[in-house]
Amino acid sequence: MTSRLLDGTSAANEIREGLRSRILDFTTKAERPPKLGILLAGNDPGSEIYVRNKIKNSQELGMETDLRRLEDSASLADAMKIVSEFNQDTSTDGILVQSPLPAGMGADAEQRVFDAIAPEKDVDGFNPVSVGRLVQKRAALAPCTPSGIIKLLDREKIDVSGQHAVVIGRSDIVGKPMAMLLLHRNATVTICHSRTKNLSEVAATADILVAAIGRPGFVRKTFVKPGSVVIDVGMNRLDNRNDVADMFGLESKKIASFDKRGSVVMGDVHPEVIGVAGALTPVPGGVGPLTIAMLMSNTIQAAENRFSD
Ligand code: NAP
Repeated sequence: MTSRLLDGTSAANEIREGLRSRILDFTTKAERPPKLGILLAGNDPGSEIYVRNKIKNSQELGMETDLRRLEDSASLADAMKIVSEFNQDTSTDGILVQSPLPAGMGADAEQRVFDAIAPEKDVDGFNPVSVGRLVQKRAALAPCTPSGIIKLLDREKIDVSGQHAVVIGRSDIVGKPMAMLLLHRNATVTICHSRTKNLSEVAATADILVAAIGRPGFVRKTFVKPGSVVIDVGMNRLDNRNDVADMFGLESKKIASFDKRGSVVMGDVHPEVIGVAGALTPVPGGVGPLTIAMLMSNTIQAAENRFSD
């Protein structure tokens, strides 16, 4: 069987293009562009790249960004102060706090910061009010990665209703909201995690399998029902050539890419699943681009909602 590749890059481009006229309309009516406030604390190299990308995407669409940086040594109170300023600033429509926050802010820092974000500006959908609204199927702003996946399924005309969806992973940012959105589309949903017994057998009953684990190549072909839809959320960096060779083979494009760059990114789904799944998302170029497109979408949505209130 050949697996259809679900092209997240094209889907993300379509989503972004669809936002342009809304951003223009808002800018005309409000006499200012939508604005995303971003807090970047510490010096995590991955976060630097993510934030740069988010700013670039916002600017390309004609939205404004307000980036506030904090040193690695900053306190939780410093972060809270910035969130409070964003909350109060009437021209800030969305607030994004880049994870991870520096360890020195404390183990529950992220939760406390997300709790402090005004729900109407919560473009990541992590605030408990946003989570409650999501569960009650009246979310204005749902978490970006799972809502991007739903957009992709829609675009690819993959019917969710009545299907058995298995989500591996139960994080607050991907697994749980993904399960909820699939449930709202009338899927029968099973959530799996590190304590699930017979995981591969459970996964192999899925019509739609979502892997959000954070372990390279974890989902083997025995996990996959032939012809099913597999969504690979994982973003794992491989920086050992032997690991890349074991996973993809010595003659693979990934090895060539590794030899050029010194690392490659791969998902949670093993390459042997290609040919078993009916359709699957590549990594990169699958779920990743959709996440950022949905952040843009949530920001204009938040701006419109605030303006109409
Ligand atoms: P996370 O918070 O670490 O959650 C991982 C989940 O996987 C947990 O629920 C964990 O179970 C489960 N898990 C771990 N090992 C397992 C095992 N051996 N068997 C079964 N379940 C296992 O990760 P996350 O934030 O959800 O992210 C997951 C992956 O998606 C990461 O690779 C991340 O980089 C990627 N991601 C990508 C995007 C994107 O835009 N493409 C966005 C967000 C995340 P327990 O709860 O039992 O520990």
